[in-house]
Amino acid sequence: MPTFNPVKPGEKIDLSKLDPADSSFFEEGKKEGKKQLTKLTEKLEILQELFYAHGKHRLLIVLQAMDTGGKDGVIRHVFEGVNPQGVSVANFKVPTPEELSHDYLWRIHKQTPSAGEIVIFNRSHYEDVLVVRVKNMVDKHVWSRRFDQINAFEKMLSEEGTIILKFFLHISKDEQKQRLQERLDDPSKHWKFNPGDLKDRALWDEYMHAYEDVLSRTSTAWAPWYIIPSDRKWLRSLIIADILVKTLEGLNMTLPDRTEELSHITIE
Ligand code: AMP
Ligand code: MG
Repeated sequence: MPTFNPVKPGEKIDLSKLDPADSSFFEEGKKEGKKQLTKLTEKLEILQELFYAHGKHRLLIVLQAMDTGGKDGVIRHVFEGVNPQGVSVANFKVPTPEELSHDYLWRIHKQTPSAGEIVIFNRSHYEDVLVVRVKNMVDKHVWSRRFDQINAFEKMLSEEGTIILKFFLHISKDEQKQRLQERLDDPSKHWKFNPGDLKDRALWDEYMHAYEDVLSRTSTAWAPWYIIPSDRKWLRSLIIADILVKTLEGLNMTLPDRTEELSHITIE
């Protein structure tokens, strides 16, 4: 598969020019795509085990999207085979009073991965320049300085040994309508339907604008953003799995060599 490129630092992003159903990255179709996805998730399983055993790196994966964008789907389908020991998900919801009484990165920093660990952020500190901005929860002078703060925070994490990959799951407004409708029509999906999501949907354009700023201003060499065309679920998962596998393979990890140390041991 070709390499899927992240947003270049400083690149001006216009989301209306990027097709959420774009399939040019993989033109062999859904059936072949699903086959490839299975192969990649099998590879990921092995690589994650190695990552854990190797124990030298930390990996932080950030998932951001509008409601129904597929964050949960990515967690389920891309990571289905991995060992739960060594991989965890951090969900960031509306901050609690305690969280709000600290700075916005306090709850985030606590959940970053330790050595050998992979942590997936289901929403993240980016909510503090997205929903917080769109819904006027803090003044502009407060949220607008957060882009630089976030870049500095992520740079520190990266310099201290954390690999950071950020995925924006780009869906169209029409696709969201269909997915919300499915949730309404299917009683087994009612638990996922949150009437509040409709308020966010009504602010779609404002959110897209806020996302464009996030993507243009916080894609860095040390923590790149990938804009994933996500109207097709299998394609979205395939692209992300491919990026993860390539990233992990690029680390050239080996199992710790303990041959010498263990050679003197006899088990009675
Ligand atoms: P969900 O992920 O759909 O279960 O919903 C979580 C909700 O929490 C979303 O509506 C987010 O916009 C909201 N949320 C997450 N982080 C923040 C934040 N820092 N400030 C305000 N709302 C947030
Ligand atoms: Mg929601």
